[in-house]
Amino acid sequence: MFKFDRKKILIVGAGLAGSTIGRVLAENNFKVMIIDKRNHIAGNVFDFINNNNERIHKYGPHLLHCRKNSEALKFLSRFTKWVKYEHKVRALLQNGKTTPLPINKSTLEDVFNRFFKDENETREFLESIRNKELIPTNTDEFFESSVGNTLSDLFFRPYTRKMWGLEPKDLNISVGSRLPVRTNNDDRYFNDEFQALPEKGYSEMVENMLDHKNIQINLNTSYFKGMEENYYHSFLSIPIDEFFNFKFGKLPYRSIIFEEKLENGFDFDAPVINFTDNSPFTRKTQWNLFPNSYNFEGKFKTVTYERPCSMQVNPGEYYYPVQTKESNITYSKYVKLSKQESSLTFIGRTGLFKYIDMIPAVEIHMRIAKKFLQGIDISK
Ligand SMILES: Cc1cc2nc3c(=O)[nH]c(=O)nc-3n(C[C@H](O)[C@H](O)[C@H](O)COP(=O)(O)OP(=O)(O)OC[C@H]3O[C@@H](n4cnc5c(N)ncnc54)[C@H](O)[C@@H]3O)c2cc1C
Repeated sequence: MFKFDRKKILIVGAGLAGSTIGRVLAENNFKVMIIDKRNHIAGNVFDFINNNNERIHKYGPHLLHCRKNSEALKFLSRFTKWVKYEHKVRALLQNGKTTPLPINKSTLEDVFNRFFKDENETREFLESIRNKELIPTNTDEFFESSVGNTLSDLFFRPYTRKMWGLEPKDLNISVGSRLPVRTNNDDRYFNDEFQALPEKGYSEMVENMLDHKNIQINLNTSYFKGMEENYYHSFLSIPIDEFFNFKFGKLPYRSIIFEEKLENGFDFDAPVINFTDNSPFTRKTQWNLFPNSYNFEGKFKTVTYERPCSMQVNPGEYYYPVQTKESNITYSKYVKLSKQESSLTFIGRTGLFKYIDMIPAVEIHMRIAKKFLQGIDISK
């Protein structure tokens, strides 16, 4: 047990990282102050209902997926009910038709204009087009070894270049290896056994997480150095390089510009359509197709187009940490420096310089909070 019960904690960032730590500590009698520079809670999972009764995820579509027995899911389920939803994505082909992504049996049939009678035949074909000899060391090689050059050039290489602003060969293998390749007709985007959306949206879920007598929230409040002096410990979901005045250089991020349009054409073949060609957009989302976007009325449907860009084009909007050998080395220097700050812990996507899905984000930060409660050195 802590002797310093009721000491004050500062959390910078009301995203999932900060909100998870905030809730766990509040339930353990800490007085938690959460600040966020934005005018809303929930960070990048923030969603809202627009005038058309569509639920819009302000920072791009967020799909929750995990194991059924995930501790993070159990935790989040205290704050929301779920609507079952298995996400589907289709890629737009040059002929104007769409095909399933991740690649499955139908995708191979559509692209190569062939018919496979069963999974065995599909697998044999895939084996014949992929580069089996190659042991991949980067994202480009991963593509070639798993699906071969034709499919890599069609679905992955141009998309990866515009998404990351880098050649796939310069990206860590972990970036490319997130998508499965299937030989059956499963057209779900994720394999996970639990896939759902919060019944009343992510913002309400986070609002419920933060609804605790020991939590105070100040929005429209930016962190400044020295703020932490009045607190026993501070958890910062801010860019770690910025905190140290970019001493070892800037950590690279990719940003995204979201462009909303009202459209009145046919419904998309899936809520998300990927543009895998050289056009500037990576995907478009038709919001009323998600099952927790109830009561949509109106002729025009809101569609959001995503255009990846550099941080110079969209300052302050850090979305995807760009993982390369160099950036990982730079990050490790900042981590070493941060260990000298015993009353500060860097958290979240920008504090940890790591792309983290929602469930891992909750899991990691539940763990950090528990270690803190046990008095374990959380810098390890
Ligand atoms: C485009 C996109 C799509 C995604 N899609 C999915 C998906 O489909 N499924 C999935 O599981 N995950 C998805 N994710 C990941 C998900 O968004 C993250 O898991 C989650 O946002 C992590 O929360 P966080 O608290 O680390 O960061 P954030 O949500 O970014 O929260 C950080 C908060 O800190 C605040 N802040 C930063 N600096 C300061 C400062 N100096 N002062 C005050 N406040 C500050 C920010 O305003 C922000 O609100 C996606 C991420 C992105 C970028």
